[in-house]
Amino acid sequence: MTFDYDLFVIGGGSGGVRAARVAAQDTGAKVALAEEDRYGGTCVIRGCVPKKLMVFASGYGAMAEDAQAYGWKMMAGGFHWPDFQARMHTELDRLEGVYRNLLRNAGVETFDQRARIADPHTVELADGTRKTAKHILIAVGGRPVKPEMQGAELAITSNDIFHLEELPKSMLIIGGGYIASEFAGILNGMGVATTQFYRGAQILRGFDDEARGLVSEEMCKRGVDLHLGTNILEMRREGKGIWVKATNGDERVFDQVMFATGRAPNSDNMGLEEAGVELGRKGEVIVDDYSQTAVPSIYAVGDVTDRANLTPVAIREGMAFVETVFKGNPTKPDHDLIPTAIFTQPEMGTVGLSEEDAREQEPIEVYATSFKPMQQSFAGRAERVLMKLIVSQTTRKVLGCHIVAPGAGEMIQLAGIAVKMGATKEDFDRTVAVHPTMSEELVTMKTPVRTG
Ligand code: NDP
Repeated sequence: MTFDYDLFVIGGGSGGVRAARVAAQDTGAKVALAEEDRYGGTCVIRGCVPKKLMVFASGYGAMAEDAQAYGWKMMAGGFHWPDFQARMHTELDRLEGVYRNLLRNAGVETFDQRARIADPHTVELADGTRKTAKHILIAVGGRPVKPEMQGAELAITSNDIFHLEELPKSMLIIGGGYIASEFAGILNGMGVATTQFYRGAQILRGFDDEARGLVSEEMCKRGVDLHLGTNILEMRREGKGIWVKATNGDERVFDQVMFATGRAPNSDNMGLEEAGVELGRKGEVIVDDYSQTAVPSIYAVGDVTDRANLTPVAIREGMAFVETVFKGNPTKPDHDLIPTAIFTQPEMGTVGLSEEDAREQEPIEVYATSFKPMQQSFAGRAERVLMKLIVSQTTRKVLGCHIVAPGAGEMIQLAGIAVKMGATKEDFDRTVAVHPTMSEELVTMKTPVRTG
């Protein structure tokens, strides 16, 4: 049987674009890709990239204050959102152009419309055209979800925050995950009176308790009005604002409310189940270790599979798919020991097991130090950083590394290599400290603070 294409990719985000490009470029496969929105997907258009630019933007106010302690005669003027926003969108347009060029130069044919599965080898485009392919890759990502409640339509999500015409004077963020905690810091840094409600006992559930405790404490010190054990009960429009009733009985009016209450896979109305693809409870596409679905010709990568919902992981999954299907080299994407950063303020970098999870698994030693870093302390700030290692008593391997500090994301990338290689505490100790830095503490901690 002949097909129109060797590969048809649905979704032009990180995973889909990488798989399409590499399959076409490295193997000469005939590849097409359909994208209904903008190329680059969540990461480039409404996620990691604009978020990180906003993190940078929000940090300059404090930096300008600190500069005075270093002898600079300057004052930060006010933050002007429209100026920054226009520049940010120009940058996103540029990046979208880069993604389109990558595909074009690799010879991938693109369709700027929605596509769905018609049968295991056929894709139907929104205009009714049908295309056949030997393999189909689902890389359609995910979307933010709002809880079902009266008035939910009044609130925005992270998709909308990059398009606000003006910055609100006050904002309520609901949730305690990556997105909620990152935007609480960003908006606070931009001068918005920021309140965060999280229903649990501490934000960033699942991460090391001591690390998330410090992030939360420092966020509050910097001005985020964080309410733990608190959720939203009701909301309604009141004048130009939104009236909110909280579970703790508080009633307040905010200019804007944002839900950051999780994301769901974009698997609806894709013709997946009709074609025999299995979906999980959240709507995630169920795949095996090689990203193959229950239908042998259909594979899926990235957030739609709800494995580790991170751009570099989607890219790895896309590359492993091409190795397996187009290069005859069956390759499983490796989901073990993924280093990751949370761009809260202060930033957190983490790899491996939390102290709590490691202790469930085996006897451990905990090495940790928390101190005021030189740069901020000189400027009169009382903020603290944390460097922490979890070590196996039996193998001496470093099972987890947790950093809360400015630049923690950059640090954990490098510490992640050592942990991935199976470095022991003694390997860390043998490494000479880089002085004076914050991360030198990772190789100079001599005595465990806790064992067991
Ligand atoms: P998360 O799943 O991380 O967090 C969702 C939060 O919303 C949790 O605190 C959850 O509480 C809370 N929540 C869920 N439902 C409700 C509800 N009905 N009412 C009140 N609160 C609720 O999702 P995010 O949206 O923050 O992020 C999605 C994913 O995006 C992440 O898992 C991550 O993989 C990725 N991401 C990664 C980033 C990075 O690498 N820096 C940055 C941003 C996103 P509870 O804990 O009680 O369940």
